[in-house]
Amino acid sequence: MTPSPTDRPGELPPASRAGLCATCRHVQRIESAKGSVFLLCTLSKTDPRFPKYPPQPVRACSGFSAGS
Ligand code: SF4
Repeated sequence: MTPSPTDRPGELPPASRAGLCATCRHVQRIESAKGSVFLLCTLSKTDPRFPKYPPQPVRACSGFSAGS
């Protein structure tokens, strides 16, 4: 079975399902050649507790900081 787009880790879900990452200062939006948008957590570069592409939507996160 082919996964739906929202089943892919880190991919930006529809706005109605957007979680904390969408408004976090540590997020970096990555757009693929096919036009899909993924959310990369920049804290993952320095802290192994944070996945590079957190499964969306993230509802609770110790690293969240508003400001994106
Ligand atoms: S710190 Fe948490 S809320 Fe912020 S981008 Fe990373 S996973 Fe998302």
